[in-house]
Amino acid sequence: MSASGTNRTVKFRRATAIMLWLGLILAACTPSGPAGAEPRYRELKRVLLLHSFGREFRPWSEYARSIKAELERQSPWPLDIQEHTLLTSRFNNPGPEAPFVEYLSSLYQGAPPDIVVSIGAPAARFVQQYRAKLFPDTPTVVTVVEQRLVNPVDLTDRDVVVAVRNDFVAAFNNILQLLPDTRTVAVVIGASPLEKFWIEEVKRELKPLEGRIDLVWYSDLSFDDILKRASVLPQHTVLFWGLMSVDAAGIVHEGDIALQSLHAVANVPIFSYQEPFFGGSTVGGPMHSVSETTSKTVDAVTKILGGEKPVDITYAPIGFARPKYDWRELRRWDISEGNLPPGSAILFREPTLWERYRWQVLLLASVILVQSGLIGGLLHERRRRQCAEVESRQRLAELAHVNRYAAAGELTASIAHELNQPLGSILTNTETAELMLKGASPNLEEIGEILADIRRDDQRASEVIRRLRSVLRKTPFEVRDIELNATVRDAIGLVVALANGRRIALTFMPVLLDLHVKGDPVQLQQVILNLVINAMDAISDAEMVKREVSVSTVRAGAHAEIRVADTGPGIAASDLAKVFDPFFTTKPQGIGIGLAIARTIIEAHDGTISAANRSSGGALFTIRLPIMRR
Ligand code: ADP
Repeated sequence: MSASGTNRTVKFRRATAIMLWLGLILAACTPSGPAGAEPRYRELKRVLLLHSFGREFRPWSEYARSIKAELERQSPWPLDIQEHTLLTSRFNNPGPEAPFVEYLSSLYQGAPPDIVVSIGAPAARFVQQYRAKLFPDTPTVVTVVEQRLVNPVDLTDRDVVVAVRNDFVAAFNNILQLLPDTRTVAVVIGASPLEKFWIEEVKRELKPLEGRIDLVWYSDLSFDDILKRASVLPQHTVLFWGLMSVDAAGIVHEGDIALQSLHAVANVPIFSYQEPFFGGSTVGGPMHSVSETTSKTVDAVTKILGGEKPVDITYAPIGFARPKYDWRELRRWDISEGNLPPGSAILFREPTLWERYRWQVLLLASVILVQSGLIGGLLHERRRRQCAEVESRQRLAELAHVNRYAAAGELTASIAHELNQPLGSILTNTETAELMLKGASPNLEEIGEILADIRRDDQRASEVIRRLRSVLRKTPFEVRDIELNATVRDAIGLVVALANGRRIALTFMPVLLDLHVKGDPVQLQQVILNLVINAMDAISDAEMVKREVSVSTVRAGAHAEIRVADTGPGIAASDLAKVFDPFFTTKPQGIGIGLAIARTIIEAHDGTISAANRSSGGALFTIRLPIMRR
């Protein structure tokens, strides 16, 4: 070592000593927690964690992270975990380790750590090699190391080994069980001394599978070349991810970027036996479990720190854990779940639509169910209403028919009169014609005129009968396009004689334009007849001096109106609201259903009917019907 090198070492040692003193002073000044806390448990424990390649090298990084976190969680003492990395193992031709040894010995001289934990095989080898020089009395836990890489000769009674056991036959049998057609396994492995060691070991261990599968080794390729090969692999080939710490080109691969890149391009599935590589890139199978190694390591460290003798703490090498598979990879490579060994776990299963949206689906289903129920109920209700409507119309038609017969009864006298007149004329004219024919020179021209009169009178009588028939017809409620003035005129024609008989002036004043409405003419005529007969009854019953019934039609906006006014005594104010009630009558022989039927008929036509008293005296009934849009 040069003079300046020695100076640097001295300065470094001095600085370290000062820092340690400062640390001690600070520790002394710090309040020692709540009174009564066990002082033994407050003692700071210093743990030296030695990494093999670097803090971020998989798989060791995952073990180290887990061990550190568990130690911090479980330790009853405050811990000072100091981490160092054995950089030399990164190089394919390891350089001198002396400076690193020197550095550590300076750092811990006089104040060795309470325990040394080595992670991975290179760190294990380093600790075994240099422990006598660096920490002769410090207990050591050698962990995350394959049993073959621990040299039992170098172990002391201050060492505890937490070893794992690689079972490549099991790992490769897993491939064959999942994909029985596999012919070739391309092994991705780096070129560091550790990786080279494993190539030989795998070859040796897999001898029994010779002839069954061909092994292709990528240890001589740069990672870029490996990626190129992996994207065009032939059928029945799989990739086996061994280790990729340092590739043949000397490039170091930290984290899981390398594996991810391989996964992105590979045209075949990738297998591995390390849990830290599982979850996103590899298919899975029997693997070393991080948690099992972690729990044994933490157990050993806490026991040693608690005063147990390392020599009394032993663990059998840890084999592969229960096989685990990545559901996404199984699907991607079309690997049947039936091929998996019994008891294996399948992870990362994507939830089905039902599992993901269970509540939403349930909610939606119940909403649909309730909605369908409501729709069903409404449809049923609508159907019932339609049936009820049909039935009520039928009843109405029947009732109206009965009512028409009642009205016809009242019309008998007037009809008889209407018929008598033409029949009387016919008789007289026939007798006259007979007499004329018996004469010596009958006037044929006159006889012709008489016959024409007979024909006219006959037609008049037929018309009366036609009208009566039409109003007495028993028809179902049938709506059609009608001209309201004509309908009203027809109805009035039936009661003219009755009015004459009662000495009442019945007038009809239609509006001078056609009023097209949708309606049943027989039923509307019945309503008009009812109103006119009621009006005439009112005049006759009260023996009025002024005896007029005037019927008129008017167009009021989108409605047609029929007004029936009379000069009778009008309706008592207290009865105005009741006249349309069924069986309301003030007449000694009245039934009181005429106006009730009239209102039902008009409402079935989407119209209204109202009663009022005229200021000049007498009653006024108004019917409003919607005019048909053409
Ligand atoms: P009814 O003619 O058998 O009494 P309606 O239902 O046709 O049955 O008439 C009910 C009642 O309305 C009549 O009894 C009468 O009191 C009253 N009424 C109807 N039209 C008139 C009118 N033009 N003037 C006065 N009262 C009337």
